[in-house]
Amino acid sequence: MRRKIVAGNWKMNGSKDLSEELVGYVRSEAESLDNGVEVVVIPPAIYVGDVLKQAQGQISVGVQNVGQWQSGAYTGEISSEMVRDAGCRYALVGHSERRQLFGETDEAVAIKASLVVSSGLSAIVCVGETLEERESGRAESVVSSQVRSGLSLIKQDDWHSIVVAYEPVWAIGTGKTATSSDAQSMHATIRGVLKSMGAPAEEISLLYGGSVKADNAAALFAEPDIDGGLIGGASLVAKDFISICRYFPAGA
Ligand code: PEP
Repeated sequence: MRRKIVAGNWKMNGSKDLSEELVGYVRSEAESLDNGVEVVVIPPAIYVGDVLKQAQGQISVGVQNVGQWQSGAYTGEISSEMVRDAGCRYALVGHSERRQLFGETDEAVAIKASLVVSSGLSAIVCVGETLEERESGRAESVVSSQVRSGLSLIKQDDWHSIVVAYEPVWAIGTGKTATSSDAQSMHATIRGVLKSMGAPAEEISLLYGGSVKADNAAALFAEPDIDGGLIGGASLVAKDFISICRYFPAGA
């Protein structure tokens, strides 16, 4: 049975006050969700402690990035062991902003994903094509190659801790969303790639991300290979985020 997940990536936004307000509201509303969705909040690392206190173990907490090492002289980095030790359950790996703005390569994504899952966390590994790659007909090959290389170091026993987020780069923060049928088609491709890698593909949750809002979430989440969403902008508005969580069909 695949996990259904709605995860909110705050990016470099928020404050102590917002953490308190937003997570308090989301936690109390999440209690009444009856569709089996796991709600995950991914704040900037500096607020993880505050968010964990607010979450009271009822919603999951993650980080937006981890280092490529577990300890040592790497000023400014945090390791996946530390993230687990602090009480988080998730780490994002390979978000397109990390790839584009910080030069994160497929090799770095592979190392991070394997460290995250071997530390006992779930890794949400992000993949997605640029507009130019889509318009030149290369979207499927780019995304397939990101999946193959980003997950190349995952051991057989660790696949249950992998979640893949398909986030077309042209849809992130732009207000443009892939149609639900285009997103479904890419998710089916990703599941096929996972299968070809020997992964238990039918059990791996695939999230869609890219301008998901309350008004497009229902159509996306109704698709058979879309197991949830990775939400940026809308996750900073408590009511919008919870509405998206509610759009997940019960029993899907
Ligand atoms: C994201 O940052 O992962 C994201 C999907 O952002 P937005 O929802 O704002 O497009």
